[in-house]
Amino acid sequence: MPTPKRIRADAARLGIQTIRTVADGRTVQIARGVCAACQGHDELRQSPGTPAETLQAAFEARGWTGFGRRILCPACSRTTRKSEETRMLPRQKITKAAMDQMPAPTPRQVVTIADALAEHLDDGRYRPGWSDHRIGDDLKLPAALVAKVREDLHGPLKGDPEIDALRGDLDAWISIGADLRGRLDRLEQTRA
Ligand SMILES: [Zn+2]
Repeated sequence: MPTPKRIRADAARLGIQTIRTVADGRTVQIARGVCAACQGHDELRQSPGTPAETLQAAFEARGWTGFGRRILCPACSRTTRKSEETRMLPRQKITKAAMDQMPAPTPRQVVTIADALAEHLDDGRYRPGWSDHRIGDDLKLPAALVAKVREDLHGPLKGDPEIDALRGDLDAWISIGADLRGRLDRLEQTRA
């Protein structure tokens, strides 16, 4: 069983405070999460010696997120997730017609776009999370202009960035799911 000092240090690293106190004549361990965004807090009463990862799992079960970085209460977690989902919304596919309607890029635009492509394009395929749209957003240029320069320099895109991005997200969720399943199984075993 980890020592109280060890638990306190491990939990603190995750963003959870632990306090040992006496309630009804028994020593209990209180775990407190304080939201980094709204300062709202939640407390869980655990038996002494409950390891930090179990505390994290208990907070996660209540909807807390961001352990080890910036911990957020369930409400603030939902807001953050919502804005990430909006950012990840699939965007209009850039048509050949849209590219053709773009004015010819200036030499300077060609250079900046070419630099971005060199960084984010790999063998005619965007690296995960990248697309004409994202480069356009970064450079404050129309995505269709990025697409036009990209086609001129590298030819048609291999793969579909939106599909590749969603596939990447799905893989990430699957691994998060597997991780949560493992923690749930371990937690259930310790409580059995
Ligand atoms: Zn909050």
